[in-house]
Order: sequence, then structure tokens, then C-alpha cells
Amino acid sequence: MSIDLLLKGGKAFVDGELLPVNIGIAKETIASITAHGEPVKAKRTVNVSGMWLLPGLVDVHSHHREPGFTHKEDIITATRACAAGGVTVSVGMPNVSPPPTTAKILKDIFALYRKKSLIDYNMNPSATKLEEIPKLKKMGILSYKVFMGVDTGRSYPHMPGIGVHDHGKILSIFEEVAKTNLPIMVHPHDQELMDVIEKQFWDKGQRDYRAYAKAYSAYDGAMWDTAVGVLLNLQRATGVHLHLLHMQTERSLEMLKQAKDEGRKVTAEVNPWALWLSNDWKTVERLGSYALSYYVPPHHSDAVRRAILDGTVDVIATDHAPHTKAEKERGWKDGWKAHTGTPSAQYYLSLLLNDIHEGTMTVQRLVELTASEPARIFRLYPQKGVIRIGSHADIVAVDPDKKTTITHKSVLSKCGWTPFAGRKLRGVPIHTLVRGQFVYKNGKVVGKPGYGKLTKPINS
Ligand SMILES: [Zn+2]
Repeated sequence: MSIDLLLKGGKAFVDGELLPVNIGIAKETIASITAHGEPVKAKRTVNVSGMWLLPGLVDVHSHHREPGFTHKEDIITATRACAAGGVTVSVGMPNVSPPPTTAKILKDIFALYRKKSLIDYNMNPSATKLEEIPKLKKMGILSYKVFMGVDTGRSYPHMPGIGVHDHGKILSIFEEVAKTNLPIMVHPHDQELMDVIEKQFWDKGQRDYRAYAKAYSAYDGAMWDTAVGVLLNLQRATGVHLHLLHMQTERSLEMLKQAKDEGRKVTAEVNPWALWLSNDWKTVERLGSYALSYYVPPHHSDAVRRAILDGTVDVIATDHAPHTKAEKERGWKDGWKAHTGTPSAQYYLSLLLNDIHEGTMTVQRLVELTASEPARIFRLYPQKGVIRIGSHADIVAVDPDKKTTITHKSVLSKCGWTPFAGRKLRGVPIHTLVRGQFVYKNGKVVGKPGYGKLTKPINS
């Protein structure tokens, strides 16, 4: 077989460890893995000595904002940020307009991605219309999504039409999704508890970003735990594969672990904000709504950290959630008027690499959490999520020792800001390849809109 491109002189993550090997790529796939000294004939060679070659990141939870909210982000800007962050598959979430609640709407959205995405993609449609659930599966989706709540005081990001908090309706959705054998992702939320908790703050005249942060974490996270408890019970009742989003409390993680120990089909994800951002009150005070997604008090964040290392949590996905500065500024006065969520696709790999230097992450867990486990859970493995012969050549080359300071200026996302500005990190993506082609090279985006392909489950 003729090798088109040889990545030479680096260490690649192969069979669970970093090995000094050269990676040969033929067309879209990995064709050879050879020792450094072994001669390989290749049309083109790129020297990656000093770098680690890791499987491209598979981000199963990202908000690309198109169609409908392209003043915040669009498919091109989002996937440019992904390319720079080492993400080779990015899966959109359905809070766009119109939201993909039907196969017909999803088809139109896929047409946008086909024209615009720099990297491979999919979209998790909203499972709110029971009769559409089997039709959506036929479109090649990886998973369904339900937001278990609706925002109060604002119309975005958790708008009416895709929020479901009626337990009976969730039961019916789970039963229908179980028949498809695909997972369902749920953002846990207990609307009735939240209605009461919010009112307690508002009645005291407390509406700013601090009140917002405290409301969501009130009663030591009872709102999250109650929702996760309900979801796990409905999972048990239906046998659906439940993928829990936004894990952020100690008790939720205990419940998750128990369900897993019982052998149930439950998986879960953690997002960057719970690890590096809103787990620190000083950061919340400094950045206000710019730091919120949700406030995760330190004892909960410590539990999250343990759960990603011991395998209780399977996936780190970005929950990349760009909003404009104007949409965040409102939060200083009224946290409920600011749009919740934080952008992160471009920098989470650097944050994880920095954690390896700090001794709080290992390269093995990094690869599992960001690539091989999401690929396995959503049935892309071993086409994606692994460096092995025959797999897609989706590779990120990182310089593990290069130092960087994150700046707003470096942001590729349309929102133009990052909550991580000012962080000094060690470990930077240098090149990203999607199916054998550079989409990011020597620190520059070189991918073209329309290169990305719909990535479908390979064995459903
Ligand atoms: Zn999200």
C-alpha cells in the first residue's frame, strides 16, 4: 500500500500507551505504525518529533448555534475552534431554531453542516415528538437529547419546545428511544424544585450572578440529585441507554456508580466548567455570568475529579456554549437574564494536558475520556477514537511541553471571548488531521468548510 503521509519522529498513543512510532496514512486511514528506525516509503513526511499523537477528540456535546442563533456562533466558526482544539468529531445540540424535533428539520440542518463543517459532525435531535423518534434514527444520528427543564426569565438557551419535565412524558420518550437501541442524553433538571428555589432568592430581591450561582447549587445540589434520581429510575423502568449530562454533585455520582455496578445501561459526562472554571467561587466573583454554566462547590468538584479518574464518569464533552458579551453582561445585575453556558472547544485539550503536568490527569484517562470512550458509547469505535491500523486518520499532534497563555485574541469562536483568558498552560495542539487531511497545521486553521462528513454509528 502506498503511504501518502508519514508523521515521523513523535510518540503516538497506541494500545494504551505512548510509543515512539511513525504513523503512515493512506488516503483517509491509518495504514502503518512502525518503529522510528524502520524505513517507510511515503509521498510526504511531516516531522512531529517532540510531539504526542493522540486520537482526535470526539466531542459529543457542543452548541454550534446554527441555524437560528448565528450572531453567537455558526458551524464554520465553531468547527474552526474545534480544529484548533484537536476536535475531529463535533456533535451539535438541538437548541437551535428551528430545533430538530423532526427528521425533516434535521435533514435541513445536516445540509448546512455538509456545506460548512470543517470537521466530521453529527447532531443530537430533540426526542420530544414520539412519532419522529424512529424516523430520526434513520437519519444516522448517534443519540437523542432531552432538556429536562425550561428557562425562567429568558427564552434561551433552554427554550420551550424542546424542554420536557413531565415525568410521564419522559417515561414515554425513554420507552420509544429504547426500541431504537440508541442512547438518550438528558440534561437533568427538576423544574418544580427550581421554581421554588428561584422564588426564594427573588423574594429577597436577590437576582444578580451570585444569586443565580447559589440558586442552582442550593440545598447542596438537591435540584440536580432529584433530577438524576428520577432519570435513573425511569432508565431502570425502560432499559433505555441513558447518558447523563452535566454531572456535578457528589450524590449524583454515587447514584450513577450504583446504577453502573448493577450493570445498567448508564453512561455520563462531565464538562470543562465543572473542572476548571465555576468550581471556584473567586472565579465566579471575578467573571460573573462569564464563568457560569453552573457553580460547582469545591467538595462536589473534587468528587467530579475522582469520578473522571476512576471511570465512574465515561466522557468529557465540552458543552461548548458561546454567547455574546452583551448576553453575558446582563448577568452582573440579573443572573437569570444572562444566557447560561461557556465556550470551551478550543482550549479543553490544553487544560487537560496542563493537568497531566500538575499530576491530576493521566494521558491514558485523557484519551479515554475525550476520544475512545465517546467513540465506543456512540458506536464510532474503532473507526474513530483510536490510533490503530484501519481507523480513520483523525489525529491531534500536541506539543506537551509548549507553554501558552490563553487570550481573548486567540479565540476562534464567533463570541470572541473565553472564560479561560489569562490562564498559563503547558501543552498545546499543533496539528489536527481529519481523515488524513490537515484541518489545523502549525497553529493555523487550514481546513475548508464542507470537508467534514456526517459520522454515523457503525454498528447500530
Ligand atoms: Zn449543553
